[in-house]
Amino acid sequence: MTAATQLEVIIKSWIAANGPMDMGAFMNYALGHPEHGYYMKQDPFGASGDFTTAPEISQMFGEMIGAWAADAWHKIGAPPGFILLECGPGRGTLMADILRAARHVPGFHEAAQIHLLEMSPVLRELQKTALSAFKVEWHETLASVLQDIPIIIIANEFMDALPIRQLQKHGGQWHERVLRLDLENNNLVIGLAPASPALVSDIPHQIANEAEGTIFEVAPARAAFMMNMCGHIKKSSGAALIIDYGHARRGAGDTLQALYKHQFTDVLSYIGDADITAHVDFGALSNIAVKSGVSVYGPVSQAHFLKSVGIDIRAAALQKNADMKQKKDIESALHRLTDSSQMGGLFKVMGVASHADIKLSGF
Ligand code: SAH
Repeated sequence: MTAATQLEVIIKSWIAANGPMDMGAFMNYALGHPEHGYYMKQDPFGASGDFTTAPEISQMFGEMIGAWAADAWHKIGAPPGFILLECGPGRGTLMADILRAARHVPGFHEAAQIHLLEMSPVLRELQKTALSAFKVEWHETLASVLQDIPIIIIANEFMDALPIRQLQKHGGQWHERVLRLDLENNNLVIGLAPASPALVSDIPHQIANEAEGTIFEVAPARAAFMMNMCGHIKKSSGAALIIDYGHARRGAGDTLQALYKHQFTDVLSYIGDADITAHVDFGALSNIAVKSGVSVYGPVSQAHFLKSVGIDIRAAALQKNADMKQKKDIESALHRLTDSSQMGGLFKVMGVASHADIKLSGF
């Protein structure tokens, strides 16, 4: 048993006062508590942190996204002013690589108004440094970004941080998994509470009849984000690219996971000191996109996407001027990004476009 973090103590007193806490509220506390939330107080990336993301592995990732964004901008008619929005930009590496890759595309830099959706004050400082050559605006909510001009949106490993809630079948009925206080030893434990009919109505037919004990995750916060994003894209014209780990088809299972110093750990250990995420249900996102009237591309595997936008050609070009060690590094980065045993298979890429004649690349 690990010692309780300050955030664990706060969550326990919330439960003592208010009753059981759903897993979505728990994720919000663990990641976003203003003082003790995981993203709010530290830089989580890299060897000394808890996890590494694709843009931190290699510049090639951001360069490919940059080429994709420039192509998407052309396909929406190369508007002279557009919003280039990144959701959850981490250290700012991806946006810096996108802008570097697109600097030779005539008119792109002049047209791009860079906006970042970021809740963490620590990461905002790092983004400021990474993008010091550019005019950047920061936002806490999607609503404050949205203006009536075309928009291109990029979100890498952002959706997995938006909270999910968990339903579980017990006694033939769906219940919600919640956190309770085990008063005997003052521990947090996962228990069941009655589920609201609205959440239960989100369960697809093929899962509703699954066996006793089945867990199904719903993500009202993600769904709302997706709906607002797609609705806006439809209205103002534009495109979005969502990259994340998850499943293409809707399925049952508990995917809530915690990472602490590059190791998986129990979600109730190191609360506020471990990253907590859940797999993205791309099937659910796709349904929302279709309902919003935008065109949907994918999801395809990250390997498929990166290869079809030309990562092998880029790697070969970088190899040309590289020494032996750099050659090895490029090779191993390419492997990590695209091999199906690494990020290439688990990570999925989905695109949406406002109009059917905008044919997005990479799918
Ligand atoms: N895209 C980056 C970082 C991924 S980590 C990369 O690939 O390296 C998740 C990012 O989303 C962090 O920047 C985190 O602070 C931000 N984030 C998570 N939840 C958020 C929310 N609800 N609102 C705004 N930003 C959020």
